[in-house]
Amino acid sequence: MSSTDEPALKTPQQVLKDIFGYDSFRGVQADIIDHVIAGNDALVLMPTGGGKSLCYQIPALCRHGTAIVVSPLIALMKDQVDALTQLGIKAAYINSTLSPDLAREVEMRAIEGDIDLLYVAPERFATDRFLNLLDRISISLFAIDEAHCVSQWGHDFRPEYRKLDILPTRFAHVPRIALTATADAPTRKDIAENLHLSDARCFMTGFDRPNITYRIETKGNSKQRLLSFLNREHPDDAGIVYCLSRRKTEDVAQWLSDNGRPALPYHAGLSQETRQLHQDRFLREEGLIICATVAFGMGIDKPNVRFVAHLNLPKSMEAYYQETGRAGRDGLPANAWMNYDLSDIVSIRGMLASSDAPDAQKRIEQRKLDALIGLAETTKCRRQVILSYFGETDAKPCGNCDTCLEPVDTWDATDASRKALSAVYRTGQRFGPAHVIEVLMGRNTEKIRQNGHEQTSVYGLGKDIAQPQWRSVFRQLLAMGYLQVDEEGHGGVYLTEESRPVLRGEKVVEMRLDASERKRATTQRLRDFDTFFEDEDDRQMWEALRKLRRDLAQEQNVPPYVIFNDRTLSEMVKFKPRSLNEMAAINGVGAKKLDQYGLAFLDITDGRM
Ligand code: ADP
Ligand code: ZN
Repeated sequence: MSSTDEPALKTPQQVLKDIFGYDSFRGVQADIIDHVIAGNDALVLMPTGGGKSLCYQIPALCRHGTAIVVSPLIALMKDQVDALTQLGIKAAYINSTLSPDLAREVEMRAIEGDIDLLYVAPERFATDRFLNLLDRISISLFAIDEAHCVSQWGHDFRPEYRKLDILPTRFAHVPRIALTATADAPTRKDIAENLHLSDARCFMTGFDRPNITYRIETKGNSKQRLLSFLNREHPDDAGIVYCLSRRKTEDVAQWLSDNGRPALPYHAGLSQETRQLHQDRFLREEGLIICATVAFGMGIDKPNVRFVAHLNLPKSMEAYYQETGRAGRDGLPANAWMNYDLSDIVSIRGMLASSDAPDAQKRIEQRKLDALIGLAETTKCRRQVILSYFGETDAKPCGNCDTCLEPVDTWDATDASRKALSAVYRTGQRFGPAHVIEVLMGRNTEKIRQNGHEQTSVYGLGKDIAQPQWRSVFRQLLAMGYLQVDEEGHGGVYLTEESRPVLRGEKVVEMRLDASERKRATTQRLRDFDTFFEDEDDRQMWEALRKLRRDLAQEQNVPPYVIFNDRTLSEMVKFKPRSLNEMAAINGVGAKKLDQYGLAFLDITDGRM
């Protein structure tokens, strides 16, 4: 492919510094890039925010020809291409949002060799028209982003991805690089098989996201708790709040807005235009909150999402890790906060139990959910639990999660567990925990009278424990597998085989003491971005830089972070460059951006504003 009359290409290190403005590669980035530039295939597994994009963007610039990037989300292609264009890179996209004229123009440019990176949606890829185009251009590599979409075990299966299996036969000599943040072993194997990448070298980086603080709380009044968390730690930050139902996303968005926090809903029931509008505003405005179902987020590249909150338990460990991974892609401190309850476990277990999926699939989903419940209930370091699920078993306690920051107390719940389990048994193993708790507490409800439950031996047996703590006991009995949710879909619970020794008093049950029962320790203020600028002058400079960035972004109709990201601005505050040379040394200031924006930002940082 490299004929002698073609211009000499830059080295990866030069591209990194001159174009992207970064000093050094992160972790295995350099190895991956060398491997692909040499013409080899690669499967790259890196957490969200790990820096996957450079792994194909730099080879694209260091090899002759056009790189074809298959990416599942048309909605975001424009931003990806805008970001590259800002760096002075020749990038374009072809998808259904382009007029036929514009699409033809892009095709012509590609044929003339005037495009280094061409983004395309998978459904477009397999069309005759696109394949014919590919035959007429010189291709440097294929990058397959969000590669887990090819797998049914992944959580975003996209059948069109299967068509990519023609690549190795049709373009035998073009290197392929597939990238994903999803890493569990069955999915990984499935990706490699479906994309014919079984012989490709697999690069896996550590899955840790050290800048994310994990916190999982277990109790009700979740909206109010969300609001105080936001006001305390994120008074003007952008973030995502995940909810289970569409109605709840709207409800929470409205409530946050009413309480002074601009928020918008996002779910599959909204029209395409509304979704696009809300997503655009999230990307372009600062400090906007999106309340969303899982429909939101794949491919969201906004680097300064400062928090991801969950008001419900997601359905698997992967989903939790991917969703929380959308926080803090810029490497600055970010929060992953979850509030969940007994009812989450009952409803999500119930949904799984009553689904029509084949048994094998159900078992896999069950395992993934159990892993997440285990994380929620652990008394150990959250990060250790997460990382060991992804195969990293040697992590130390992190010091940056709630259980590390405020160690959890436990209590001997053997006796309470026996009472709870026998109450389930005596009431016929078909009622939900709420009713069984009322029986235990000796309440006088219609349901109790109708079923004659005031006659049972367990009636009033649990008056010594308050209702919230009973909920905590039932939640943990479910989490530990002593209780299971039935398949009827009404949330009834029954005893499992494992509960026998507990019932007979042969097994000691330790439970975590939920925070509501502990004296509430004043929440440690977790590391917060704002604290970088304790100095008032620094704060003002930071605000001025942000305003300039916003104005420049508005002029060009691009998201602010496409101009410079938060990390770059914060380095400007820290180092206060006084010349263009000093400005060039800031992370994220490459040649093109220095040229275009250097002076304007220098005006602020050299103190002569
Ligand atoms: P991913 O696709 O893996 O989620 P990205 O490719 O979007 O992550 O990278 C996350 C952030 O890290 C981006 O803002 C990117 O510019 C930045 N980044 C990537 N590699 C480096 C590096 N070597 N030095 C500094 N910043 C980097
Ligand atoms: Zn920890």
